[in-house]
Amino acid sequence: MIGRCLCGGVSVTVEGPPRYVTACCCSLCQRRSGSPFSHIGRWSREAVSVEGERRVFERPGESGGLARHSFCPVCASTVLTEVDAMPELLGVPAGLFADPDFPAPAVAAWCEAKAAWVHFPDATLALERQTMPPRG
Ligand SMILES: [Zn+2]
Ligand SMILES: [Zn+2]
Repeated sequence: MIGRCLCGGVSVTVEGPPRYVTACCCSLCQRRSGSPFSHIGRWSREAVSVEGERRVFERPGESGGLARHSFCPVCASTVLTEVDAMPELLGVPAGLFADPDFPAPAVAAWCEAKAAWVHFPDATLALERQTMPPRG
């Protein structure tokens, strides 16, 4: 499966299904994504390959540790998300694949900040605050 940024300058190829799919409704994810929540698939590092120039923005997570967001310097799409708490996994924003069959989140974090009209599936574990493992 191949995802790409808005301008097509960065492509992300993943092997197999994601190991873990999360949503996060925290204010940081809202600002980064411009959306009510982030939707991220996480793969083992060896299952992800990236082509194209990118820049990195680092920020502290609410739970301590850093989150690193890689983005396309031309169109500013986030193309990778890494969190210290899950060093073995690389996160890829689900939207890069523009695939309506991309899996729903197993966990939705920071639902206390969730827009009232957002309803996750019954099978999604909705946490008021922190995700386990921590959000990204
Ligand atoms: Zn781009
Ligand atoms: Zn978040």
